[in-house]
Amino acid sequence: MKKIEHIGIAVKSLSASVPLFEKLLHCRPYKTEQVESEKVNTAFFITGNSKIELLESTETNGVIARFIQKKGEGIHHIAFEVDDIEAEMNRLKNEGFRLLNETPRPGADNKLICFLHPKDTNGILIEICMEKK
Ligand code: ZN
Repeated sequence: MKKIEHIGIAVKSLSASVPLFEKLLHCRPYKTEQVESEKVNTAFFITGNSKIELLESTETNGVIARFIQKKGEGIHHIAFEVDDIEAEMNRLKNEGFRLLNETPRPGADNKLICFLHPKDTNGILIEICMEKK
């Protein structure tokens, strides 16, 4: 794994949290994007070598909505960049980690992504991601 590509933060409302993070980070999001398959709207900020991804649910029963109901707003996942997502998925599977998807799936920001089961990683949802070529 190369670096922390981004940290995903679950928020109730992008229209409230984007201005907050603009103040905090002193920059504007470089992109906002709806990801249909994940039922989220996202906003991305660059901070040095990595990014902050704000996630707002588009549906009341979406993954992010349910996360916030259970735990409140906050860090939702940590994403690591990898060179070869299929090779890394195989490696992690062989190490005993459970993958939440068996094949890479399209994520925000032109990425292929895979999530690991948080029960295998100290309760932290880990995403691995690779730039789509
Ligand atoms: Zn992410």
